[in-house]
Amino acid sequence: MKLTLLGTAGSEMVPVYGCECSVCTQAQNDPSLRREKASALLEHNGHKLLLDANAPDLLKRFPSGSIDTILLTHYHMDHVISLFDLRTGKGPTIPVFSPDDPRGCDDLYKHPGCLDFSSRAKPFEPFHWQDITITPLPLIHSKLCLGYGFEYQGKCFAYLTDTNGLPPETEAWLAQRNVEWMIIDCSFPPIECEQLRLSKNHNDISQILDISERCQPANMGLTHLSHTLLEWAHAHPEFFNQSLHLLRDNQEIKI
Ligand SMILES: [Zn+2]
Ligand SMILES: [Zn+2]
Ligand SMILES: [Zn+2]
Repeated sequence: MKLTLLGTAGSEMVPVYGCECSVCTQAQNDPSLRREKASALLEHNGHKLLLDANAPDLLKRFPSGSIDTILLTHYHMDHVISLFDLRTGKGPTIPVFSPDDPRGCDDLYKHPGCLDFSSRAKPFEPFHWQDITITPLPLIHSKLCLGYGFEYQGKCFAYLTDTNGLPPETEAWLAQRNVEWMIIDCSFPPIECEQLRLSKNHNDISQILDISERCQPANMGLTHLSHTLLEWAHAHPEFFNQSLHLLRDNQEIKI
């Protein structure tokens, strides 16, 4: 299994439009530091599975016939925006596995075009793509949202975005396995006020440390990053080590 991070930022991306903070200024000057909206590509046995569909160059990068399956975490616009361009295309139908959200996003269900939304992922009901077992894992977000655990020949990784904390049953599932890589939403520096933290839609760095402690993944890769988190991370390099990583766009992970 090879996972490529197509994007590692939240919906505002990096650099943020008009922002002159140090992170955004550096990213303006150095394209390798730019970050697109969070999504990923899983490649296995010569087939391609997209995890969310929002890459700005998605149509050029994946010509007709090259996408085997799309797996959606949730129907927030910043995770599905490319489906609106994709659905009007020609070529083979693309199955889209997604949470059982009755509303979806805008009129995608009504006018699916070449997309097939009939496959619904249900919490803890595993399904197969190629010879990989995929288990949908509930997350905590303002819209029905699922992370996914991927298991193949005793190896396991998880993709968990968007979320604020993890439900106990999801943590238990992860803690019971040797998770080689946990790719997880982390949008904020530490938020001291618990009430404020609970009101957010995404993890802060202290929640990440708690989850790491309880689930013990071998590696934790942070995605859905914001410029404020990155600015904080640059000032606190001691928080990061060989098993806690800030992911970057186009980074490849072999599992
Ligand atoms: Zn998001
Ligand atoms: Zn900025
Ligand atoms: Zn979201």
